[in-house]
Amino acid sequence: MNKITRRNFVNGTLMASGASLLPFKIRDSQAAMSGLDSPYYPPALTGLRGSHPGSNDRAHALAWGRRSAESSMTQLSETYDLVVVGAGISGLAAAYFFQQQHGTEKKILILDNHDDFGGHAKRNEHVINGNTYISYGGSQSIVEPKYADQVVLDMFEDIGINLTRFNSAYDLDFYKRHGLGGVTYFNKEVFGQDKLVQHPYCNYPNYVEGLLGGRLSHEDAAAAAPLSEKGRTQLLRVLNGGLHTLNVQEADLQDYIDNHSYFDYLKNNLGVDDPGVLRMARHSGLDWGNYSTELMSIAEAKSCGAMGFAPKAVYDEDNPYIYHYPDGNASIARALVKKLISGVARGSNAEALLLAQFDYAELDRPGNPARLRLNSTVVNVRHGSDPASASEALVSYVNGNQSFQVRGRNVVMACYNMMIPHIVSDLPKEQAAALSLQTKSPFVYTSVGLKNWRAMKDSGIGVAMSPGNMHQAVLMDFPVSMGGYKFTDSADEPCVIQMISCPFGSFGAEPEAQFREARYRMLALQFNDYEEEIRCHLSGMLAGDLFDFDRDVASISVNRWAHGYTFGGPGDSVRRGRQRFGRITVANSDSAPEADAKAAVMMAHRAVSELA
Ligand SMILES: Cc1cc2nc3c(=O)[nH]c(=O)nc-3n(C[C@H](O)[C@H](O)[C@H](O)COP(=O)(O)OP(=O)(O)OC[C@H]3O[C@@H](n4cnc5c(N)ncnc54)[C@H](O)[C@@H]3O)c2cc1C
Repeated sequence: MNKITRRNFVNGTLMASGASLLPFKIRDSQAAMSGLDSPYYPPALTGLRGSHPGSNDRAHALAWGRRSAESSMTQLSETYDLVVVGAGISGLAAAYFFQQQHGTEKKILILDNHDDFGGHAKRNEHVINGNTYISYGGSQSIVEPKYADQVVLDMFEDIGINLTRFNSAYDLDFYKRHGLGGVTYFNKEVFGQDKLVQHPYCNYPNYVEGLLGGRLSHEDAAAAAPLSEKGRTQLLRVLNGGLHTLNVQEADLQDYIDNHSYFDYLKNNLGVDDPGVLRMARHSGLDWGNYSTELMSIAEAKSCGAMGFAPKAVYDEDNPYIYHYPDGNASIARALVKKLISGVARGSNAEALLLAQFDYAELDRPGNPARLRLNSTVVNVRHGSDPASASEALVSYVNGNQSFQVRGRNVVMACYNMMIPHIVSDLPKEQAAALSLQTKSPFVYTSVGLKNWRAMKDSGIGVAMSPGNMHQAVLMDFPVSMGGYKFTDSADEPCVIQMISCPFGSFGAEPEAQFREARYRMLALQFNDYEEEIRCHLSGMLAGDLFDFDRDVASISVNRWAHGYTFGGPGDSVRRGRQRFGRITVANSDSAPEADAKAAVMMAHRAVSELA
């Protein structure tokens, strides 16, 4: 039996056959990455990914006021026209716009603390039975491109993102062909028995285009739920509920639902007090809501598909949720990197790049106008002289245990906005205070490589809501085939499934307090804790002979995003925080604040334009 052991995963394991994980070696302080041994290929790493172990150590030491033990600073003789802090979509787009506005010969350095580029838009690869299966480790799809600014659409076109391609690449018939719909898994630990009910209880799964609805009526689904009799009665009341149960005039309805709490509505209007039903309601918004539903108004809960509102299509017909590359928005990041550093891979558009080999040793090649340096946490940015008249800024970063300093005539901070006060040491106090108020919510996106998905098909699972588990949703990957990559069409074949966790803090606490609590809990867990949850979860949900965790699971990537969706800050703190300061401007989706790739691009465009 091919048993998975903790050793396979812990801290990231290179799964590609014959490959080994090779540490960065700084052979030449002028070119931190040019000495990269081949093959250095982080998308193939499994285990703890996302903000992988070590990636935030330097930043946390800064934020928490601990001194780090790096050796003395090496001042590199490198001066750039632009230094970008953060290689997420915003940072990469900032480099792209700078080249557009000032010429492709301009010297640009992009620094990121992770071992891979893309920020939240990360690619996961799983090698199963010798073949590579692609998935996403964070940012999933291009959302509502219909509403994209022309700036974004032009950039997409220029880097080879063809939106019309998804009309045929996304297999809308897949779920119907395989009988996959929205279901709910109740686990034994919380609900007393492991039970799968063919009804999603909430609207969340409806964003998956083509997914079948629940097979059961509300009545049958409520009767099948492993709740007390009182709980089942209350659940049915919620499922049959909706705005019509509110005794409010049509003209006053919007105002009412904007200003009344969803949980008060459940308790007072629908008489719900069963802990199982309230738990289902709390976990029904997930990452459509950013925070747990007990903090939401009725209107917010309704718009994020929380339990009790009639299932509806999340997107309109002209705006389907189909803009998904097999590696999610990592394809945007890859296309941007290819545009900036042409030698990194072969392929003239995002689709052609999907299966292209990326040569990471090219990223930081001396002589290239644009360079991308990974594993490099920026710890200080300051102007060499009076910010109002300075002609450059000094940028210090830590790579391994060594500190380096480069010079930038311009700097775009495309990292997490709340980190900027800890990094830009001469920032005015007011601006620093505004940036400190910004926050983000934590998430875990886990991709699991399965040797076959017979048990998923047999159970009719397209999306499973799991209100009792750490991962509150389990879903088949999106059925997209393109660029020579073929999505599975037989349950006997391997595939990658996704498990999504939106960890919450203490019930009723303010969002920021919940984020903090959940973030620390998330970071304290080791890989084997996550693996154990996934083992229990999948084994309980996929009961019967068709699934055996040790036999059927090939690989796991737990993408922890301790700092995930941007949540912004109070008042106009976002705008005050993102102001230009001397040679430094501020990008990142935090500056919008909108957890959206389009916003990340727009903020890059704004930040670069401010440098002019
Ligand atoms: C799990 C998840 C799913 C998402 N799904 C979607 C989706 O489907 N569609 C969508 O449009 N959006 C999605 N988003 C929102 C996503 O945040 C944005 O779309 C976008 O990718 C953000 O890009 P960014 O460059 O602004 O920030 P980030 O991606 O966060 O990039 C910032 C980079 O800066 C780095 N950095 C931070 N501090 C330093 C430092 N001191 N030195 C060097 N580097 C540093 C960070 O580590 C990171 O790599 C998702 C987000 C998450 C977390």
